[in-house]
Amino acid sequence: MLLEVEDLSVNYGHIEAIRGLTFGVEEGSIATLIGANGAGKSTTLKTISGLRKIRTGRVLFDGKDIAKVPAHERVQLGISQSPEGRGVFPGMTVRENLDMGAYARKDRSSAALKPDFDRVLELFPRLSERINQVAGTMSGGEQQMLAMGRALMARPRLVLLDEPSMGLAPKLIQQIFEIIKEINAQGTTVLLVEQNAAQALRLADTAHLLETGEIVRSGTGHELATDSSVREAYLGG
Ligand code: ATP
Repeated sequence: MLLEVEDLSVNYGHIEAIRGLTFGVEEGSIATLIGANGAGKSTTLKTISGLRKIRTGRVLFDGKDIAKVPAHERVQLGISQSPEGRGVFPGMTVRENLDMGAYARKDRSSAALKPDFDRVLELFPRLSERINQVAGTMSGGEQQMLAMGRALMARPRLVLLDEPSMGLAPKLIQQIFEIIKEINAQGTTVLLVEQNAAQALRLADTAHLLETGEIVRSGTGHELATDSSVREAYLGG
């Protein structure tokens, strides 16, 4: 397992956002967390990337307990997150945003970054056309692509994608899921959080359903997609 989450609990003050989560993500796979608003999906990703503190439990990356490793060092270890709501730097250009994605890397010479730049611009040709555009003036879908591209500039082993399809037109949603598949095919392990459960389950090797901070079902993407209670509650019957 590349990532192991063991009995993880996280609080916001007295509110228990997640409780006793246990799951793993195999190297080279796509895993997904699905569930309703407020189920704890984003909190789980933020805890793995180091933005939230663990109350109890452990997070192991490549067998190493990372509880005490600060967020920027987790990027160096190979964990990078594309945040919910995009979170690009609005006053910077596309190129500058992508550069920022590589800030934690030791070697940031243009020669070292070139293959990653090329990879990102190949995955997202739209970014290539708009390389000098200020990010804040791009459409929602374009900003989403930029956030994903920026996460990839860290050359992660594990990329955490928080709601990459949020607010996008159906055609673009389809495209984003195709790109996630391609990112994975190129060797990056993916942990995907999605409200668009049907699409996420189609893509995922393993899937977990969260309800009010707990995992209530786990299986392959196909198993969850065909589970009658999952279908009823999350896939529209
Ligand atoms: P969504 O799909 O709506 O983004 P989610 O499954 O990602 O939901 P989280 O954002 O992880 O859910 O939230 C889990 C719980 O923790 C919710 O009850 C939420 O209100 C609470 N929570 C999240 N962030 C904070 C915060 N900064 N302060 C207090 N409570 C929070």
